[in-house]
Amino acid sequence: MRKLKAIDTSCEEFAKEIISDTAERLQPVYTAIQGELKNLHDDYDDKFQHDNLQNVKKSGLSSVELNRYGKLYKADSEAIQKLKFQVLRNEIGIYDDICPICGIGPANTMDHFVPEGDYPEYCIHPRNLIPLCNDCNGPKRTLLKTDTNERALWNNYLDESPNRQFLFCDVAMIEDMPRASFYIDNRNGVDKQVYSRIERTFERMHVLEHYNSSSSGKAYYYLKVLASHEIYSEEEVVSWLRDEITGKDVNDFVAVYLDALITSTECMKWILDKLSELHSMMA
Ligand SMILES: [Zn+2]
Repeated sequence: MRKLKAIDTSCEEFAKEIISDTAERLQPVYTAIQGELKNLHDDYDDKFQHDNLQNVKKSGLSSVELNRYGKLYKADSEAIQKLKFQVLRNEIGIYDDICPICGIGPANTMDHFVPEGDYPEYCIHPRNLIPLCNDCNGPKRTLLKTDTNERALWNNYLDESPNRQFLFCDVAMIEDMPRASFYIDNRNGVDKQVYSRIERTFERMHVLEHYNSSSSGKAYYYLKVLASHEIYSEEEVVSWLRDEITGKDVNDFVAVYLDALITSTECMKWILDKLSELHSMMA
């Protein structure tokens, strides 16, 4: 749940770049619609600033005009790619294209936070576009607000991941493999509204399922890393993995998984057995 820094380019400026990439004969049409939407885009920015995106407005434009405007969004447009590059740079300026929701796959799609199907008005608003991986973007669909008119889902520009742990994992050895079963729980008292948003987002985007299915790959990855560092004793394994956990966010799925592995006696035994197999293969 990595926070991204939204760019401050205005929607008008951003749209200008996108429109300049379209066929010349269409440019005046797009520019006119863009002009009609100026107030609405300013209103979006105001709602963004006040964390009130669930109450964005619809325009009075005809469906023909809106359909046409919706065509301006193209995932591979140069302006969109540039935006992606800018917002995925971390605090120290390093480009990190891992999905800011799940932290697993590359963020190779753009999510329209205010859904483009219902609100084509905001299809190229730079603060409405959030880079996500395919898995997280796919199943989200069109949920913007809850029944009680709260913003329903996690927004990586607006939300700050809680520093209290809400993600947990049980591991068990099944068919000679540590199998993870991730779950979320509010035993540490994350703010109720924030926690419900996490819960809804995890459910909609099937985040726990992604964690479960990605975990065995991680186990093998860490086995190789430990072997390459010539680490074979239980004490060294625990200390090395603890260091690895310390560098990560408290709700990072790898950190939570590694912690579950080292606290499970049967998984620890599996790790040590595998390491000794690797050791004898390499000897
Ligand atoms: Zn993802």
